[in-house]
Order: sequence, then structure tokens, then C-alpha cells
Amino acid sequence: MHYNWISELWRILASLALALFFGWIFDQILLALLLAVSLWFVIYFLRLKKLDHWLRFDRKQAPPLSSGLWGEVFTAIYRLQQRARKRNKRLVKAINRFRETTAALPDGAVVLREEGEIEWWNAEAGRLLRLNYPQDVGLRLANLLRHPDVSAYWQGEWPDEQVTINSPYDESIRLSIRMVEYGKNQTLVIVRDVTLFEQVEQMRRDFISNISHELRTPLTVLSGYMESLLEENADDEQVQHTFKVMQQQTRRMQQLTEDLMLLSSYENRHRERKQVVVDVPQMLSSLREQAEILSAERNHTILLEAEPRLCLLGEQRELDSIFTNLVVNAVNYTPSGGAIRIRWFEDDKGAHFEVNDTGIGIPQHHIPRLTERFYRVDEGRSRHTGGSGLGLAIVKHAMQCNNGSLRIDSDVGRGSTFICDFPPEIVRHADEQGRGTSDEAKV
Ligand code: ADP
Repeated sequence: MHYNWISELWRILASLALALFFGWIFDQILLALLLAVSLWFVIYFLRLKKLDHWLRFDRKQAPPLSSGLWGEVFTAIYRLQQRARKRNKRLVKAINRFRETTAALPDGAVVLREEGEIEWWNAEAGRLLRLNYPQDVGLRLANLLRHPDVSAYWQGEWPDEQVTINSPYDESIRLSIRMVEYGKNQTLVIVRDVTLFEQVEQMRRDFISNISHELRTPLTVLSGYMESLLEENADDEQVQHTFKVMQQQTRRMQQLTEDLMLLSSYENRHRERKQVVVDVPQMLSSLREQAEILSAERNHTILLEAEPRLCLLGEQRELDSIFTNLVVNAVNYTPSGGAIRIRWFEDDKGAHFEVNDTGIGIPQHHIPRLTERFYRVDEGRSRHTGGSGLGLAIVKHAMQCNNGSLRIDSDVGRGSTFICDFPPEIVRHADEQGRGTSDEAKV
């Protein structure tokens, strides 16, 4: 290219020199120079015209043959075009592959712009949200779904990792919506039809609740008969022993059915909750006395540190399940002479209930699964304490009912700490509200 510039320049200079020479011979220097410049002007104009025609009409063809500098310019443009064409082909291929992949996704995916306007969606999202192209491009997702939990996302108050809402077109369809921020203020929304999943979950809950209910009466009858048989056979040691074992097992089954019913009621999101201001310090003080009785000759040191005016707006039964299960576990899983410390305090994140023991502890890998139903670290040790394996599942669900969460920390052989975090919205102080009297609400 560099070489062509120089030779082009030489050619122009040579033609000007020739014009000068003839101009000098015929004594018409200016006219000769003007003719030479005009000739070059015409040549450049014709080549520009050729380039323009080629770019406009024959771009896909090889460039028109041209020599010198112009030939080089034509070839360079042609090469650039070919490169761009190849890049475009690769891009189209990638976009097609992306389209095919997203179309095959079993979940709906929607891409939103900064303010929540819909920019793109895949086939499943189009089906679930009944989106039509191109009318719905630019439509705000919050306006389409019309649900406060979805609108909360743009106010920076996304309630959870995901929310489950009714479909805006069919109340019987439940949709799980998950939002993930990516790129430059863009949001990817994953939409999933969870109707069947929720139905199966509901069936499971109903089944457990019904079967526990059905077992309750026969167990009460059995327990009553065994009580009277024990009294009638007070002198027969063998019979006494047999009936005592039977009674013990019946009590365990009764406890199990009670716990199962409690758990399914906490899991039921349509349950009506009767909230009152609960005097937690008083509740904990009587729980401490019960723990002393349960500890009996095992002689645990049980300490209670509770902020005296710190109350909660909640359901008495739920809070009782939370506090009792954690304290009873601490007593059950702490060897004789150990210490149990119960704390009830407040900070800027809300109110906290903490039970710390110097018990046997829990290996780390069990901790994430402890709140599953019937999950036990060690079958033997739980059977020994008579636990149903539902205690921590009940605590977890009761905490969820209060928008709170449970934290567990433990060291094998050194002890465990269970902390329940209650959000500030439900914290009350005794002098503001009066203890357990005002602020009743049905939720
Ligand atoms: P369980 O009725 O068997 O006690 P939970 O759901 O209350 O059932 O507890 C689940 C398991 O967690 C228990 O089986 C026990 O192994 C372990 N666990 C609970 N609390 C403690 C604790 N304070 N110290 C040690 N292990 C505990």
C-alpha cells in the first residue's frame, strides 16, 4: 500500500512535469497545467464512481479490476467485507443456537430492561405469561403480573429468593417467579409452573394431618384402658411391667401424632394466626422451671438471661413450640452436670432467642439437614431421649411463620448453640403495648 502511494505520487508529478514541458514549448504553461490537473480530476472521479457502483450494487462480487492505488483500495474494502460477512455468519449461528437452547428450556425465561420492561422471552415464558411478539415488547412485567411481591423487586424489597403467585390469567395456576440481576441493570426472570408440585405438597400435608387426626382417638382410648388395667393389676409385677412398656409406647405415638399435626398446621400458609403481644420473659421463666424438672437428678445448671420488657407480637402456641423444643433438646443432649444458658435479647436486627449448651454437640455435616422431618444425628441417642425427630422441623416452620430464621452452631463434644432471629417488625416493648393485652390481630 505504502509503495502504491509513492508510485501514484510519482505518476502525478511526472504528468505535471510533462505538462510543464509542453507548456514551455508552446508558451502556454498555465493552460498545460490546468489540462493535466483536469485529466487527473476526471480519472479520480471515474474511479470513485466505479467504487460507489460496486459498493452499492455488486458488493458480493469480486471488486472491479483496477490498477495502482485504487486497485489496492478496492481489494482492502473487499477483504474487510469478507471478514465482516464471516463474523456475521458466526454470530447468526450463535444466536440460532441460543434460541434453540432457550426454546428447549423447561422453564420460562424473560429478560427485562432497567425499569422492568420486557425485552425478550423464550417459548415457555411466552406460554406461561401469554406474551405476544412484538406487541408485548416494552411492557412492564409488574403491570402484567400485578402482584405486590413482584412490584417490591423494583423498590429494592425482594421478599425472598423467589415468590409464588397466581397466574394473572388463571387463578388455579401457580407460578414461581425468580429474579436474577445481571449485566448492566438487566434482570433475568425465571418462571416455572409449580401448580402440580403445590398440589402434591398439599396432598402430602393433608394426608399427614388426616392420619394423625384419625390415630388420635384410638390412641387416647388405648391409653385410658391401659391406665385402668394398670390400676386393676397393681399386685402383679409381670403384668405391671408389660402394661408400663405398652403405655410408654402409646405415649410416644401420641406425642408423634401431636407433633405431626402441629407441623402440618404450621406448614399451612392459609392458616389463620391469632397474634397477641406475648410476654416472652415470663414464658421463658416458666420454661426454665420446666427444664429444671426435666433435668431432675442430672443436675444441669440452667441460666436464664432475658431482657425484661422485650415482647413479641406473635402466636403464643408457635413461640411456645420454638422455645420449648430448643430448651428440651438442650437438656436431652447435655450430659449430667452440664450447663445450659438461655438468652433473650434485642439489637438493631431484631430480637434473638439463644440456647447454648455444653452437650454432646453435632458433627458439622449433619447441621444443614437437622431441620428435616425425622432427621436424626444418631438413631440410638434420639431413641434414648424419646424424641420424635420432628422438634427442629417444627421450630423451623414456626420461625418461618414469624418471618424469622434459625441458626445452628455446634462443636462435637463441646456443645451447641441454637439462635432464633425475630425481625424488628414484630418486636414490642412492655410499657409501649402492655403485656400480652393489646395489639391483637388475626393474620
Ligand atoms: P429429636 O426429637 O430426635 O430430638 P429434633 O428435630 O429435635 O429431634 O432434633 C434432631 C436431631 O438433632 C436430634 O436427633 C439430635 O441428634 C440433634 N440435636 C438437636 N438438638 C441438639 C442439641 N442441643 N445437642 C446435640 N444434638 C442435638
